[in-house]
Amino acid sequence: MTNNNTSLPSNHVSEQRLWNLLMDVAAYGATEKGGVNRQALSQEDVAAKTHVSRWAAERGFQCFQDDIGNLFVRREGVEPTLDPVMTGSHLDSQPTGGRFDGAYGVLAGLEVLDALNDANIQTRRPIEVVAWTNEEGSRFSPGAMGSSVFADVRDIGAVLDVTDLSGTVLKDALATTLAAVPVPQRKSGSMTPYCYLEAHIEQGPVLEERKIPIGVVSGIQGIRRLNITVTGEEAHAGTTPRRSRKDAFASTVAIISALEELTADDDDILRFTVGRCDVLPGSPNTVPGRVHFTIDLRHPDNDILRSIGDQIHTRAKEIGAPCHVEVSDISFVAPTKFDQNIMAVIGSAADRLDYSHITMPSGAGHDAMHMSNICRTGMIFIPCLRGISHNETESATAEDLAAGTRVLADTIVHFASQ
Ligand SMILES: [Zn+2]
Repeated sequence: MTNNNTSLPSNHVSEQRLWNLLMDVAAYGATEKGGVNRQALSQEDVAAKTHVSRWAAERGFQCFQDDIGNLFVRREGVEPTLDPVMTGSHLDSQPTGGRFDGAYGVLAGLEVLDALNDANIQTRRPIEVVAWTNEEGSRFSPGAMGSSVFADVRDIGAVLDVTDLSGTVLKDALATTLAAVPVPQRKSGSMTPYCYLEAHIEQGPVLEERKIPIGVVSGIQGIRRLNITVTGEEAHAGTTPRRSRKDAFASTVAIISALEELTADDDDILRFTVGRCDVLPGSPNTVPGRVHFTIDLRHPDNDILRSIGDQIHTRAKEIGAPCHVEVSDISFVAPTKFDQNIMAVIGSAADRLDYSHITMPSGAGHDAMHMSNICRTGMIFIPCLRGISHNETESATAEDLAAGTRVLADTIVHFASQ
C-alpha cells in the first residue's frame, strides 16, 4: 500500500525535476558517446560545481567550499547550532565516465532540498548536501581525497604536491577551483555531521537482475593487495630439458590455478584478481627467469580477508617449487560496516513507499567509507543498466533514480528531526 501522506517529503520528490538536473549537470564534460569526462579539479568539474552553487543561490541556500574544495549546500534547521545531517557524493568522473556515478548522489540530495521546500517542512537539524573533491582518483591519486581529508583520515598536506600526467600540481588546480567557484570558504574541520547518507548507482548487476529498486548497503568490502615474485632460472628454450628447468612462468601458472581454487566461493562474494603479470626477460626463446604479479583480494568480512590472504602467502610458496617465491602485502583496507540503525531506517522508508529492497555489500569504494570513521553512515543503491559503470554507456532509469531519492528524502528527515 502506497502512503499518500503529503507530509512525507518523498511525496514531493519530482522524477522529472531530478532527471532535468542530472541532464543539466551531465552537459559539463559531455562526451560524444553519451558519457562524461569531468575529471577532478578540471574546468568541467569547476563548471559543474558552479552550476550547483547557482542552484543554491537561486533558492537562498548557503553554499561553502572547504580547503580541499569540497562543496557544501546547506538548508538551515530550526536549531542551526545542531550538527547537520549530511548527504552527497561526488561530481568528478573517470576520463570515460558515466552520467550517474557520483553525480546522482549529489543531485538526489539537492532534489530532497527542493522537495522539503515544496512540502514546507522545517527540520530540527540543518541538512547539508556535499560534493566531495576527487573521488575517482584517476587524474590525481589517491581517490576519495576530499572525504578522506574531511574525515581526517588523510592530511591535506600529504596530497597538495601530487601531480597529474601533464605535470599540473594539485595545489594549483585546487587554487584555481577555489577561486573560480563563486562561494565563500569555510574552515575545514569546523563541523562534524550528525550522520552521513549517500545514494549511488550500484555499479554492479544484482539489483537490475533481481528487479529490486533499492539496495540497503551493509558496508564496503575490504581490499588486500599482494605482490608475488617468482624467481627461477633463465635458460635456452631449445636446449634445456624440462626436468632441469626452473621456469618462473610455469610455476606462476600453477600458483594462480591453485589460488583460483583456494578462493573459489559458492556464494560468489570473495573477489580474487590477478591484474598485472610481468614475465621476464620477455624473450620468446628464453625460459622465463622471473615473474612479478599482483593479487587484488576483496571481501566484506575482515577475518576472511585476513585468513585467505595469509593462506595465499603459504600456498604460493608451496606450489611454486622448484622456483623461489616471495609474497609481500602492498596494502590492506579493512571492510567498512555501515550503521545498523541507519540501515533499518532506510529499509522501513522503502517499505512505506512500497519499494522492494535487499541488504547488500558494496563492491566498490565510496566516500561513505571515510565518513563512517567520524559519524554514523549509510548508503542507498539503485539499479544501473547491466551493472555497467566507469563507462560512457552507464545508464539508469528516471524511475529508479527517483525511487532512491524518495527513500533518501524520508531517511534524511527521520534523522534531521532527532
Ligand atoms: Zn562514485
